Amino acid sequence: MTMRIYLSRPHMSGVEELRVAEAFASNFVAPLGPQLDAFESSVRAYLGSTVHCVGLSSGSAALHLALRIAGVGPGSEVWISSMTFAGGIFPVNYLGASPRFFDLDPKSWTVDTALLAEELAKAAAENRLPKAIVPTDLYGQSVDLNPLEALAAQYDVPLIVDSAESLGASYLDGRKAGTGGDAAILSFNGNKIITTSGGGMLVTKHKAWADEARFLATQARDPAAHYEHSTVGYNYRLSNICAAIGLGQMEVLDERVTRRREIFDRYRQGLTHPGISFMPEPEGSWSTRWLTALTIDPVDTGVSREDIRLMLLEHQIESRPLWKPMHTQPLYSGTRYHGSGVDERLFEQGLCLPSGSDMTNEQQDEIIERVSFLLNAGP
Ligand SMILES: *Cc1c(COP(=O)(O)O)cnc(C)c1O
Repeated sequence: MTMRIYLSRPHMSGVEELRVAEAFASNFVAPLGPQLDAFESSVRAYLGSTVHCVGLSSGSAALHLALRIAGVGPGSEVWISSMTFAGGIFPVNYLGASPRFFDLDPKSWTVDTALLAEELAKAAAENRLPKAIVPTDLYGQSVDLNPLEALAAQYDVPLIVDSAESLGASYLDGRKAGTGGDAAILSFNGNKIITTSGGGMLVTKHKAWADEARFLATQARDPAAHYEHSTVGYNYRLSNICAAIGLGQMEVLDERVTRRREIFDRYRQGLTHPGISFMPEPEGSWSTRWLTALTIDPVDTGVSREDIRLMLLEHQIESRPLWKPMHTQPLYSGTRYHGSGVDERLFEQGLCLPSGSDMTNEQQDEIIERVSFLLNAGP
């Protein structure tokens, strides 16, 4: 079925084509080039110039490299948010390591730091600390960085923040999402806040990590004209042409975030039915509201999340359940999970509504009207 209204579409500003044309004019139709350098500098300037940025072919590639550089390998454990997208988990398996999944805090829908602290204390006493901790900035909301960074320092475990959905968000005191931990990963996939058609980035405060990532991402070539190799590498750099798209997108990043937040607020004002709750935003936090996420209590509303999703689909409007927690996926059955199932309940009742920054108010009004009609037809 062809959709009329999508969940989140690429939204070009017009500048991207000019930047791509510049790349063509200089024949940098290559994996490296001046547009890639400029794109990395642009993200670095946006985040604050104390970090190092390495443009990569995807967010998953960025996570793969970050985990490897952190020392994750066969037999290691990585402690990670259960409610996330597969691309934020699979790289653990690429390295032969195992995930251990953690629940969310219902007040923020990001990883429960108290639970993590408890389990870290137990693991330290039993000498089985994880090789890395990977919390997710869910739907564009920064994780609670201060306590997470304190825990990582206390137990000397690398912290890698999955900021794939949160470029443009900020944490307390305006600290930008993407600057947390030892490293953070960004994604520029087609459905994200801004896109390079496909791409990602490793952002790190350690120059040595950035250097190692550049080395591993270009086939681990030791310095020698004949290509000398002493370790396995990857072909993971971002194409210079894709980076040119990113350069144009960076010019409108803040506008895109403002628009997504406006869309969230319009839904919240338009859908005030009892039993409907929107994703919370902790005091001092500034989410990108990448996707508007809400829960539908079937007892209070008389309808289920699926009733709403399927009704919208009939009208060619794309919505989607929240991420299915990884500990409930067939692939990860039997994997250790710590929590009380906050994420499972969110999944059962949760829905993401169309949130693309190019959606018109008229389109959004139609969605609000159709959902309201179904809710009012409930008990
Ligand atoms: C999109 C996404 C990724 C993966 O990024 P890709 O660029 O698609 O590889 C990882 N984690 C989360 C939370 C994401 O939303």
